[in-house]
Amino acid sequence: MAQVKTEAEVRSQEKLAEGVYSMVLYVPQIAREAKAGQFISVYTKDPSRLLPRPISLCGIDRERGELRIVYRVAGAGTEEFSRYQAGEKVQVMGPLGNGFPLKGKKAVLMGGGIGIPPMLELMKELDC
Ligand SMILES: Cc1cc2nc3c(=O)[nH]c(=O)nc-3n(C[C@H](O)[C@H](O)[C@H](O)COP(=O)(O)OP(=O)(O)OC[C@H]3O[C@@H](n4cnc5c(N)ncnc54)[C@H](O)[C@@H]3O)c2cc1C
Repeated sequence: MAQVKTEAEVRSQEKLAEGVYSMVLYVPQIAREAKAGQFISVYTKDPSRLLPRPISLCGIDRERGELRIVYRVAGAGTEEFSRYQAGEKVQVMGPLGNGFPLKGKKAVLMGGGIGIPPMLELMKELDC
């Protein structure tokens, strides 16, 4: 499926640790096509920041049309994301990237820090 740029609605925002947030977005067009290991690009509302910020998918709920992202505040863009409340609208593009391969008899998942969240969806989708 081709990537789409569309509007997502923030369903929830939760602070997990200092500077680390979990945000659930309602964006069925992307959620129904997304795979573990892919990411979305999230646009900021400040027109001086032209480029969207890439954030990996930590959870995909195709039935509910929701994506969960977990991100660390690194600079102005992610700081803006951390202030979003439920009901807020945000522009996103996705799904992007190839995703993780899901075939094979064994899988060893390794990650560290903010690289761990995408492993959660991978773990759910692996059949081994
Ligand atoms: C494919 C992909 C997936 C990703 N997935 C995730 C994810 O799941 N979760 C996550 O938390 N992150 C993820 N990232 C990283 C995330 O995209 C970045 O942290 C985010 O784009 C930062 O945007 P920002 O506007 O907050 O920070 P920016 O303003 O872009 O700043 C980023 C860093 O650069 C520093 N900086 C900015 N300007 C300057 C300057 N002029 N001089 C020196 N230093 C400067 C900032 O202090 C900060 O440390 C991913 C990145 C990629 C490429």
